[in-house]
Amino acid sequence: MADGHCDCGAAAGPLGGCADYYHAILAEEQADPEMYKWHTPVVCAYLLQHSSGVGEKQLDSQFRLLQLYLDAGLDALLRVAAHQVARNNHRARSGYDMRPLTAFAPLPPGAAPRHFRATFCGLPLRDGSFVFDGHAAYGSRIETIAGATVESWKSAR
Ligand SMILES: [Zn+2]
Repeated sequence: MADGHCDCGAAAGPLGGCADYYHAILAEEQADPEMYKWHTPVVCAYLLQHSSGVGEKQLDSQFRLLQLYLDAGLDALLRVAAHQVARNNHRARSGYDMRPLTAFAPLPPGAAPRHFRATFCGLPLRDGSFVFDGHAAYGSRIETIAGATVESWKSAR
């Protein structure tokens, strides 16, 4: 943020940088189960847009989860994510169960993209809320960010 721009290349919005938006979303969704349905795509897209310090294996899983979301929809993603949480809770094996995700493209090697056509600090909010115009509208904005994230990673290098 030294030059006023984020890792994702975006300039700060009224709330600040993407980290400020991300933390505000995480706080709001904690009190809103309907909004929380988009938690996984929010986390995946945020970390893929701000990937310094994130492990490559974790990024690869998140890249595939976003593709699953874009390809099969939110309900399919929620089923896979719930399955993974259950596995982690049982400590059956560390990390993600990759089986449902093997059909999707792996994270491309090389440097992280520096530009995304939709970013977190571009999200609108009103009276401190991201779901001011309804959950469906919020969900479609998250889907746009998810699409922009996969698109930039696929065309990186
Ligand atoms: Zn950013």
